[in-house]
Amino acid sequence: MAVADTGLRDLRPDFPLLAANPGLVYLDSAATSQKPRVVLDALRAYYETANANPHRGAYKLSGAATDAYHGARQAIAEFLGARDAETLLFTRGTTEAVNLLATGWGQAHVHRGDRIVVTRLEHHANFVPWQQLARAVGAEFRICELTKDGQVDLDQMRALVTANTKLVAFGHVSNALGTINDVREIVKIAHAIGAVAFCDGAQGAPHLRVGFDALGVDAYAFSGHKMLGPMGIGGVIVRRPVLEAMHPYQFGGDMIEFVFDGDTTWNVPPHKFEAGTPNVEGAVGLAAAVRYLDGVGMEAIRAHEVALTRYAMKQLAEIEDLHLFGPTDVGTRSGVVSFTLGDIHPHDVSTMLDVDGICVRAGHHCAQPLMRALHQSATVRASFYVYNSTSDVDALVASLQRAVARFHAGA
Ligand code: PMP
Repeated sequence: MAVADTGLRDLRPDFPLLAANPGLVYLDSAATSQKPRVVLDALRAYYETANANPHRGAYKLSGAATDAYHGARQAIAEFLGARDAETLLFTRGTTEAVNLLATGWGQAHVHRGDRIVVTRLEHHANFVPWQQLARAVGAEFRICELTKDGQVDLDQMRALVTANTKLVAFGHVSNALGTINDVREIVKIAHAIGAVAFCDGAQGAPHLRVGFDALGVDAYAFSGHKMLGPMGIGGVIVRRPVLEAMHPYQFGGDMIEFVFDGDTTWNVPPHKFEAGTPNVEGAVGLAAAVRYLDGVGMEAIRAHEVALTRYAMKQLAEIEDLHLFGPTDVGTRSGVVSFTLGDIHPHDVSTMLDVDGICVRAGHHCAQPLMRALHQSATVRASFYVYNSTSDVDALVASLQRAVARFHAGA
């Protein structure tokens, strides 16, 4: 099965790091993606043609930086399916976006006796901020468990989302198991009692067409570095009624309207939530990344990842003692395969794969509550993206088979 069989042309030459290292098998895109040349070029072009502090200067170059920054916001909002670009707040990534919401919205609207519902699948970034908010205000923090197949148990969700629930926070796609959640159904459950529905899209936006306006969630967060963009840029789109009810998260330049000796009034969104000099470079780089993704086509990317995941699951299942986690149906999972290999510790598996130039992640994947429920301290995780091919899967499988043989020979 060649790359062409997934319907996507070989994109590896577009990625300088991969092109320079033909033997490298990069299977850790759920942690961070590689960057195409167009993104690196956009960063350079910004600094060579438009660099200045935006918003502040009356001179033309500052205007160019301002235009670059807000042009990027417009492009990213469009890519994510949000018509109202001013509701896209830039942050350093998903982690900062969740903290912004937990502080800016949560502290004002979640009170003693209220309930916050999350799921067992959550990354710590979409778990700890809500857990700590609940502890701080005296709210209940409830966790919706999973079915045997690694899906959120929607019947339990319906029972957990009671009239006192203020927020339902859930991931679009699990970074640990690859599960794709039924976002619309969870939104329906949350909205039926008037709770806010927040979706952590760190693993969704890079791989699936988000269509924010049609999706129904009240807020959707994402990380640029997982979707071919630079590190240090990401954001959250917040529906107007929630946005209007949010308090500033950080204070300083740009986010103010008037500062008096004793009090301050706030600028309008998005500025109200973007204190200080913004990451213009990051925004410009991420805009180039989403243009590239659009050029490839999100539907083509999804089809490619489904084909790779199906191929990988079939090959991996044939390895002795390999145990795969997550949904069995590739239609409800993304390009993430999480597994253990007999008694070999996942960290040892990862080290053995590294000898063959294969980069995978081993550990708890920032999802300790999930790992505890699975009775695992760690798993090995291989994750696929646009530049991967079936030959990467073949390399992974061959290397795992060698690891098993070596382990048995040494045992
Ligand atoms: N949520 C999920 C599902 C993730 O996979 C990650 C990154 N591993 C995060 C949140 C946090 O993203 P970041 O580190 O970019 O803030």
